[in-house]
Amino acid sequence: MTSRRKQILQVALPVPLRRVFDYLADRQAAAGLAPGIRVKVPFGRSATRIGVLTGTTTDSDLPASRLKKILSVIDQEPLFSKTEFGLLKWAAEYYHHSLGEVIFNALPAPLRQGRPASRKKKFVFRLAADAGADLNRAPLQKEIIDMLAAHPQGLAHDFFSDRRWARPLNILQQKGLICREEAPPDVQPEPAPQPGFSLNPEQQQAVDRIIAGADHFGCFLLEGVTGSGKTEVYIETIKHYMEKGLQSLVLVPEIGLTPQLANVFRAKLGTRTMVLHSGLSDGERLQAWLQARDGDAAVVLGTRSAVWTPLKKPGVIIIDEEHDLSYKQSDGFRYSARDVAIMRGKMSDIPVVLGSATPSLESLYNAARNKYTHIQLSMRAGGAFHPVTSIIDLRAQKMVGAFSNTMLSAIDAELKQGHQILLFLNKRGFSPVIMCHNCGWTGKCSRCNVNLTYHKLDNRLSCHHCGSQKMKPEQCPDCGSDGLLQIGHGTERLSETLAGVFPRARILRIDRDSTRRKGSMEDMVNSIRSGAADILIGTQMLAKGHDFPKLNMVGILDADRGLFSTDFRAGEHMAQLIVQVSGRAGRSSDKGRVFIQTHYPDHPLLHTLVDSGYQTFARRVLEERRQVDLPPYSHQVLLRSEDYRREANDKFLNEARALFGRVAGIELYGPFPAPLEQKAGRLRYQLLLQSSERNRLLSAITPWVQALEKLPAGKKVRWSIDVDPLESL
Ligand code: ADP
Ligand code: ZN
Ligand code: ZN
Repeated sequence: MTSRRKQILQVALPVPLRRVFDYLADRQAAAGLAPGIRVKVPFGRSATRIGVLTGTTTDSDLPASRLKKILSVIDQEPLFSKTEFGLLKWAAEYYHHSLGEVIFNALPAPLRQGRPASRKKKFVFRLAADAGADLNRAPLQKEIIDMLAAHPQGLAHDFFSDRRWARPLNILQQKGLICREEAPPDVQPEPAPQPGFSLNPEQQQAVDRIIAGADHFGCFLLEGVTGSGKTEVYIETIKHYMEKGLQSLVLVPEIGLTPQLANVFRAKLGTRTMVLHSGLSDGERLQAWLQARDGDAAVVLGTRSAVWTPLKKPGVIIIDEEHDLSYKQSDGFRYSARDVAIMRGKMSDIPVVLGSATPSLESLYNAARNKYTHIQLSMRAGGAFHPVTSIIDLRAQKMVGAFSNTMLSAIDAELKQGHQILLFLNKRGFSPVIMCHNCGWTGKCSRCNVNLTYHKLDNRLSCHHCGSQKMKPEQCPDCGSDGLLQIGHGTERLSETLAGVFPRARILRIDRDSTRRKGSMEDMVNSIRSGAADILIGTQMLAKGHDFPKLNMVGILDADRGLFSTDFRAGEHMAQLIVQVSGRAGRSSDKGRVFIQTHYPDHPLLHTLVDSGYQTFARRVLEERRQVDLPPYSHQVLLRSEDYRREANDKFLNEARALFGRVAGIELYGPFPAPLEQKAGRLRYQLLLQSSERNRLLSAITPWVQALEKLPAGKKVRWSIDVDPLESL
């Protein structure tokens, strides 16, 4: 019998189907194959695919005669450790996503394409023999020469990975002043790390408690007010694990937005700190991945997807700004990097630190139930004060554009004292609406059915949902009148208004539009820190993690948007944003000031936040959620469906609903429209499942999702499952 001589290999492929695929291999060839290696297989009529071996079996649903043979074996060794493979399998099951796609999502592009998982040689730069040239007119070149002079064995290539070094290094090599040579094995020449601060008692206690759990799993919620020096706590914690030869994984919301953080980490922890920023080429990313896997990177710093980086000797996982929405992937494989990190910590039996000034309600809830150890930093590090917050009642106030007189005089007073001011409005562009004064026509995106934003600088109307753009018409397309009005305010308009009121102030606008060019965010952050701007106008890009020592006042122009949304999380997100933006004020010892403009100065949530702070606010909102059984008191799963035709969505979702039937303890709502009902032409509908028992919910949907895959109506739409959705209503 042929099946006795053949071994059946189970292979995960990057396709949406939630199953593995069976292939044949000769018993001899199969003998040495371990789960986690890549193989090349035939797939479909004529295509070939790269897949990852997940296991072997001796029987298949298909008769042996219909099974195909694998074409080749790519790896000798598995790409992941057993624990890491376990994490990928858990994620596929928990998020109800195809294992093949989950695995491929975790791989750098060259490995997805089947290229070898091999390390490149390492190089160092050294001073050439006669380096006596006069470089006073080339400061970067001089800096390099000075650093190399202080490190006669050379400095690792990685040390100069920042793009600003590329040109001066090239020139110096051409001049023959420096040379690049292969690094001797195992020597990692690097400059001595800068000394840190001595921690204040609160910071020291935080570090002590984190490392006291020895090397076992435990989840720590590090709740530290803005400016309390959480970064320093991370760094000391990482040093502790570094000394034991263990690696640290640090997740941050967006590296491009906070270039300082990466620099601080490198300066204080040394060059074995690997920064996975978006400027890396595919090849560099692969090398970083391999160095982490082989244990040669001591610290891996990256955004959401870095949670999948393999680590030979994991010591600790740190998630900075754990409340940040960017940790949740919002399409395709919809995982939460924070939650995956916690599961990873559990499986690897190492501590996980969640840091934030404004923790998510989920994490506060877990801390309250003693699932997490709650550590608090209540003081600003280095002796700075908390800013004082005032609410500005906009009702019946005279306005200059989006500014109340109160706000303008506060700005004026700060300018006179030479302080920096940050004005926050989470809307880019000139005006969010453009309307005809004569007939009421408004510019709408035909594909998304929402208002188009007017961008004055390039005279365009643009859709912030699908990205489509067109020139602004001169006349109303409906009635031909010239009277097109710009309604409402975006950051571009704030800039214009302020330039009129304070003609001498240096105004810097920071949003997606003004920072589109690569590296411009870094340049802007540097000019803010050096004091080259007086007024900063920004969207939430400026709210996150920045430390601007000269900034004394923050003005929040519109606090009303979060107060009346249908999304039950809107209030939480508004409060987080207000606290984070406010936290930029007064980081040096001057007394910082925050002004919040609102039409609802008596709104209870806004009051609680301003008068009693985020903790009291959070307790209050949690209590509201408990009363109506919303997360974190219940768990949710969304089934989303998108199609150009409404009927196709309806048919699929109604059949899905019928298929689920009634399950005790699980509530089913819908189909109803998604918050953005139409995007890029597709209509979006969804079903919501909710239960107070997570396991009951997950085990009920497993067979359901399997059945959905076979439903003919499901082949006509784009559908997806979202476990623990963040935008549900
Ligand atoms: P957070 O991330 O908690 O908002 P940061 O880590 O940005 O705060 O720290 C705020 C500021 O305090 C930074 O300028 C940092 O350099 C400084 N700082 C942190 N710890 C200390 C300390 N122990 N002594 C003096 N200054 C400190
Ligand atoms: Zn008109
Ligand atoms: Zn659109």
